[in-house]
Amino acid sequence: MGLKARIILTSMVFMAPLLLSGQTLVRWPSGCVLSQMQLEMYGGADSFFFIGEIDDDTFSRIDGVSFGSGCTTPRSDLRLLHLLHRNFYGRAQVGEMICNKSVADDLLKIFRELYDAGYPIEKIYLIDEYGADDNRSMADNNTSCFNFRRKPGMQELSMHARGLAVDINPLYNPYVKGTHVEPASGAVYADRKRKCPYYIRKGDACHAAFTRRGWKWGGSWRSAQDWQHFEKKL
Ligand SMILES: [Zn+2]
Repeated sequence: MGLKARIILTSMVFMAPLLLSGQTLVRWPSGCVLSQMQLEMYGGADSFFFIGEIDDDTFSRIDGVSFGSGCTTPRSDLRLLHLLHRNFYGRAQVGEMICNKSVADDLLKIFRELYDAGYPIEKIYLIDEYGADDNRSMADNNTSCFNFRRKPGMQELSMHARGLAVDINPLYNPYVKGTHVEPASGAVYADRKRKCPYYIRKGDACHAAFTRRGWKWGGSWRSAQDWQHFEKKL
């Protein structure tokens, strides 16, 4: 690869690659789709999977949004995951996710496993891109984790408030309690007998990647089914 091509490709990076302990770590914004050549240029998928602290830049993106007033989860307990996933066209796409530091290693391994398995996930943006509005994020089929909020209609904090729960492809895997469905636009997907490649089903690659590591699936709850939801109790 000549110097000219290298400079052109480097100029496409929004934030400079970080060089830590000899490995190149590439920090691109969520939603960037990578060609095979770009992946190889930066040392393969390994360069795109890593865990970061909540630095000042990141905190400014979440302060007053997902990290809302009165947030009882300390900033120092949170981590920013940089990862890749396969989008609905099978392409490698960049995602960012904030989670609790205690599950950061787990989640990095889970998303790496899903990426390698070609498991389709449409998008992984911070929920702050949706003003921390869970309904907007779900309706846009955004996969996310940390959001300091209560359970719908309750005082009790959601597991998302501590970054200990993940919602995967939420439009196609809605929360269902009786006839109530969230997001409302996902009502048609409350029927789990439909054929849909984005449904999470017991024993599939997604279900297995989480449950093998001790995560519980909302799809197996009795009183309501939260098909999108995996959580880990510490
Ligand atoms: Zn959830």
